[in-house]
Amino acid sequence: MPVLPPEPAAHRPHLQEALRLAREAREAGSAPVGAVLVNARGEVIARGRNRVGEAQTPEHVGAASVAHAEMDVFFAVGKVKDAGTLTLYTSLEPCLMCGGASALLGVGRIVWATDDPWGGSGRLIKWSDHPAMQETDVVPCPDPELEREGARLFAPEAKRAFPEEGWALWRQRYPAETEGVEEETNA
Ligand SMILES: [Zn+2]
Repeated sequence: MPVLPPEPAAHRPHLQEALRLAREAREAGSAPVGAVLVNARGEVIARGRNRVGEAQTPEHVGAASVAHAEMDVFFAVGKVKDAGTLTLYTSLEPCLMCGGASALLGVGRIVWATDDPWGGSGRLIKWSDHPAMQETDVVPCPDPELEREGARLFAPEAKRAFPEEGWALWRQRYPAETEGVEEETNA
């Protein structure tokens, strides 16, 4: 069964779920990023969120700088079957590690709500020089309203995590959503 066609209406509920998980991560003291893995019938088969600011538990990765939302999804799902039929939805453009993991697994498509002009790897996910990593389709920001919502949600973390050149790129990419942003304080 092929992956869902890249239609904004099909993407919206899954991007909203990823954004809900991102808010949950923020409330738990981690970075505000969420992700869901969806099968060809449009059913969510795994949910994940960033857990970098939380303790490791038997159920979840944590207490590690690499406990990103997408990795949480991949650990939650275990052995990935029929990867080419799956779509990974994320609230934020995946980083090199998570984009690389998705490409390595052969996930059929990655859709994200909001670009990450500093930490994102979307421009690299189609690893053009790597013969085994040609299969992952990428769909950046299909829903303008959710894109802005995701930018506002992640902006304080972007300012904290990427204080100089990274934040300048965020200001340039999302001027309205980063206006007057204060750093996230997980107090
Ligand atoms: Zn990542």
